[in-house]
Amino acid sequence: MACRRRRSSTPVALVLAFIALVAGVVAMPNNVVSAAEADNSIDLGSPDQQASQPAEFPVGPERFPTGSVGQDLATRASALDPYRATDAEIVEIQQSIAELVSSSQSNVAELQPAIDELAILDAAEQKKRDELQRVADVLSEKLSGLAIQNFRSANRAYSTMSIEVTESDELETQRRTAQSLELVADDSTATYTQVAAELQRVVEIQNQLRKEKADLELEQETRQRLLLAASDLQDAFTVVAQTRAERIQQRSNEAIAGERQDTPLAHVGPFIVNQSIAEPLTALLADAAEDGIVFGGWGQRPVSRQIELRKSHCGSSEWAIFDKRSGTCSPPTARPGRSQHELGLAIDFTENGSILNRSSPGFVWLRANAARYGLKNLPSEPWHWSTTGR
Ligand SMILES: [Zn+2]
Repeated sequence: MACRRRRSSTPVALVLAFIALVAGVVAMPNNVVSAAEADNSIDLGSPDQQASQPAEFPVGPERFPTGSVGQDLATRASALDPYRATDAEIVEIQQSIAELVSSSQSNVAELQPAIDELAILDAAEQKKRDELQRVADVLSEKLSGLAIQNFRSANRAYSTMSIEVTESDELETQRRTAQSLELVADDSTATYTQVAAELQRVVEIQNQLRKEKADLELEQETRQRLLLAASDLQDAFTVVAQTRAERIQQRSNEAIAGERQDTPLAHVGPFIVNQSIAEPLTALLADAAEDGIVFGGWGQRPVSRQIELRKSHCGSSEWAIFDKRSGTCSPPTARPGRSQHELGLAIDFTENGSILNRSSPGFVWLRANAARYGLKNLPSEPWHWSTTGR
């Protein structure tokens, strides 16, 4: 009966690991496009769009313990503006929340075996207790039976004596019976006392086991509440992330749908350009070649490509892709639907495979001659030439 469990009462609380926060920032996609492909048509006077009101975030930091990872995450998630949030920010919070859910699940699961074991130990003690109780009942019954017998035997002895017949043998027998009954009774009483003490110990052990189990179950409830909060946080943030992704998709679709389908395109050397500049560009390339300058580069590109460039040069948030001022991107990149490239009216020139800089012979040649072919340079980017200079 020495199988008492000793377990320090649940210090375990929130081992929710700070790992969650170490997740770190997910690398931005590399600039898959060369800077030469940037579009420098700076659209002035296009103030950043006002953020659409973010919906109330349904899982507040008060659902988590003060200073915990969960509280930090809930605070960040509810403060996040989906319009301005980058892919990296979204992914980082999503990963941290996933880790929080996972560690919360482990925390709940890890207590269960101890609770189950305490229940088993309690059941074993209960079995002992029942058995001891049964023995105690039997003894108790026996003792009361002996008392009655003893009384009867004494009574009999007394009545025998009161009658004149004094058969000494008879009397002696009676006396012995009474004595042996007393011995049996003494013995049974001692046993009964032992059993009762044992029973008391079992009850105490059981009480201790039940207290430990109740403490663990209380802790388990706390952990389950935290798991629920973490799951709710995950659900709520998933909605935020999905809504944001859908919005970006929708605005991409709108920009692509707004693309002019009737732009007449022509191939001129390595370029695809608007039909309207095919002739002067053909002449420009021929004249440059006569002066020893061979141009490469890019002309027309679809809105979908412009969106990719915006992501690379301006950022991955809805705001960065669609609304941020072109001049604040690196390199400056026109907003989807506003690039001269989309109309085939702008060209990014390269020379010997490199984009032009101000000291390139190609740039010097263009600066001297491009105007004759109807092309103007965007001053901030020596490689970008268009009909409007934007
Ligand atoms: Zn360009």
